[in-house]
Amino acid sequence: MSSFNGKSVLVLGGSRGIGAAIVRRFATDGAKVVFTYLSSPDDAQALAAETGSRAMRADSGDRDSLTALIASLGPLDVLVVNSGILGAGDPLDMPPDAIDRLFRINTLAPYHAAVSAARTMPDGGRIIFIGSANADRMPMTGLAAYSASKAALKGMVKGLARDFGARGITVNVVQPGPTDTDMNPADGPLKDVMHDFMAIKRHATGAEIAGLVAYLAGPEAGIITGAAYNIDGGFAA
Ligand code: NDP
Repeated sequence: MSSFNGKSVLVLGGSRGIGAAIVRRFATDGAKVVFTYLSSPDDAQALAAETGSRAMRADSGDRDSLTALIASLGPLDVLVVNSGILGAGDPLDMPPDAIDRLFRINTLAPYHAAVSAARTMPDGGRIIFIGSANADRMPMTGLAAYSASKAALKGMVKGLARDFGARGITVNVVQPGPTDTDMNPADGPLKDVMHDFMAIKRHATGAEIAGLVAYLAGPEAGIITGAAYNIDGGFAA
């Protein structure tokens, strides 16, 4: 287990699910953790109290408030952009504004947050996006915008890795498959369909995703950049 003693970590979207597991992991490993939330203040405050981290309300879909928040925090050693929304449905029925908001949260926020953080990030810093295995495999209907919003992150990390590489800052995307959260409960109605696509037929836990994030944020991963890592029980294999 890596130690992040004294490291400054920001997790965007940390109040629940995978983000909360990432907050717990970094806090347990000694980091000073700040995380954002939007709609779950009670969960956020409970997690902050449990972990000794700091919760701040910020909408990842609002570029100006997001970048202002990041600027206000000073230099970050690690930025994790986890906030994301699903938005499933028939594309003929889905409101265009909802699609635009999905792309603001899932695709534009990672870009603007990364650039904002990189302005003051020290050499050797780490930027990690939470994408999705749906960037590599989209075997169901109704998720075209979601999969596109996550697939864009694969190209984004390649470019940003080049942009910040001279400073030893790495930029990677972690792509979970089905993971047990409010977004995708392990006992939900689609579980059998999803498990059929997997080699290891179970949902991941948030802690398993957080373990890969911690590895990529740690000292052993300094040469890994511009990469996408599936952690999906073989969903995309
Ligand atoms: P949840 O819906 O369980 O949790 C989402 C988290 O993101 C919450 O903490 C929520 O905060 C936060 N969030 C959402 N929108 C915003 C916003 N606009 N501003 C700030 N915070 C926001 O999702 P998961 O934990 O399942 O997913 C986390 C990430 O992992 C997402 O990017 C998702 O796309 C990705 N993923 C998940 C998979 C799964 O099977 N669970 C599979 C593949 C990828 P709040 O409640 O306070 O609004």
